[in-house]
Amino acid sequence: MADVIILGAGLTGLSAAYHLDAHGIQYRIFEKSDRAGGLLKSVKTDGYTFDHTGHFLHVNDDGFKAFLDNTIGLASFDVIQRQSAIFSHNTLTEYPFQMNLHGLPTQVIAECIEGFVKRHTRIRSPQTFYDWVLKHFGSGFGKHFFFSYNKKILSYDLKKVHPAWTGRFVPSTTLNNIIEGCFDKTTRPGVGYNSSFFYPKRGGIESIITSITSKLAQPIQTQHDVCAIDPTARIVYFSNGHQESYKTLISTLPLDRLLAIIKAPAQVNFAPAIGKLVHNSVVNINMGFNTPIPLNKHWIYFPEKAFPFYRLGFWHNVSTSLVPANHTAVYGEFSYIASRTNPDRVKRLIDQASSKTLAFLQLNHQHKTIEKVLHLDHAYVIYDTWREKHLQSLLDRLQALNIHSIGRYGAWKYSSMQEAYQDGKAVAALIKTRLERTPPRAQKGARRGRDAAAFL
Ligand SMILES: Cc1cc2nc3c(=O)[nH]c(=O)nc-3n(C[C@H](O)[C@H](O)[C@H](O)COP(=O)(O)OP(=O)(O)OC[C@H]3O[C@@H](n4cnc5c(N)ncnc54)[C@H](O)[C@@H]3O)c2cc1C
Repeated sequence: MADVIILGAGLTGLSAAYHLDAHGIQYRIFEKSDRAGGLLKSVKTDGYTFDHTGHFLHVNDDGFKAFLDNTIGLASFDVIQRQSAIFSHNTLTEYPFQMNLHGLPTQVIAECIEGFVKRHTRIRSPQTFYDWVLKHFGSGFGKHFFFSYNKKILSYDLKKVHPAWTGRFVPSTTLNNIIEGCFDKTTRPGVGYNSSFFYPKRGGIESIITSITSKLAQPIQTQHDVCAIDPTARIVYFSNGHQESYKTLISTLPLDRLLAIIKAPAQVNFAPAIGKLVHNSVVNINMGFNTPIPLNKHWIYFPEKAFPFYRLGFWHNVSTSLVPANHTAVYGEFSYIASRTNPDRVKRLIDQASSKTLAFLQLNHQHKTIEKVLHLDHAYVIYDTWREKHLQSLLDRLQALNIHSIGRYGAWKYSSMQEAYQDGKAVAALIKTRLERTPPRAQKGARRGRDAAAFL
């Protein structure tokens, strides 16, 4: 029996493994898919490389940078200055919208400025994203960007979404910024958390996973789909019949799935939570073309309903290694809530997104060399009021059972690759500290009987 079992070999699970190795702690790592990577898998086909939508490394933690250097090598990355824009009212404006109104119809500019001046600053502590926008940006920016765009990316009622996630994701603005941006069409380098990013020179985002995996002391046990966990006996069951005992469990499985498969003792009843955590799914439509596309952007946001997708990205502008010579490639994304959406509607949306992309790019089917549709089942978790009220208590109760539920879906949050690294590192440090605090006699006992495993 290994001291620690890690479930899921996405970046969070791999970071946990890497840091447990560094602390000399034994572990085994299990993954349901045929290879590691989770959301960071790249699909290679016909000379193209498609990630599961744009995955760009925003690096501002020196520890993460050192990790990338040690595992992959910084020389393997391009460092790219973001070029992004918003398309609305038939106009391409620079990102972020709240600083770049230049070129939009006068009425739109007037509504945004008036709304900002009259914004609802009296709302003390907004409890919904809708009110948060009214407080910080006003009704005009809400109407022309924030409400429409976020409704598209979340597929959820913004009056039921808590603003807890906004933080670093939404750059603030000032009247001065807004007015300058009405006259001046300038990109604003340095604005926002994603103003520059690292991207692998070759191999797509999955190349980082391949490098990290090659540095681990333990092999990844692929095609091991966890189907049940008994936290009292400390046993994980897999659908292939395998079972594994553990002392401490690190789970990066989506929390809604984890809760559904835990056979929790009667005093820790997770049943009322099952089905309460809401997430959306994203469809990622990738298309290759045999012709240039005269846009220098990495991605463009589409807040208007006329476009089924909320964003289009341009693979060839990120790295020419992702496309065959003299070709280009584009990805579109739209979201939906699976439990509320008929699969036929998803198929129709794919067709519409595909044809609207061609129309926007002024291309036709003869230019298209390939179309590859990828599905992200868990994409954005919804910060609804239930999550705000109950999430921490769920995570605490799991910890009390010696189950650390971490990562983007394990901890049910919006988080980046850098945070996946940080989550894995933090849990390894916590386990190390607990082991060090464990009196040697108890450690010896822990090897004999499962009760002592509580020390881990
Ligand atoms: C649309 C979108 C765009 C994004 N863009 C960016 C970006 O540009 N930059 C950025 O930094 N971050 C981005 N992210 C976030 C980034 O993808 C995540 O932070 C990171 O990949 C999370 O890694 P993880 O290991 O926590 O989760 P995952 O990658 O989901 O890994 C979980 C693993 O658990 C496995 N698993 C699940 N169930 C089981 C089971 N029953 N048994 C065994 N294994 C199981 C899965 O197969 C998977 O391998 C984006 C996310 C989305 C959805």
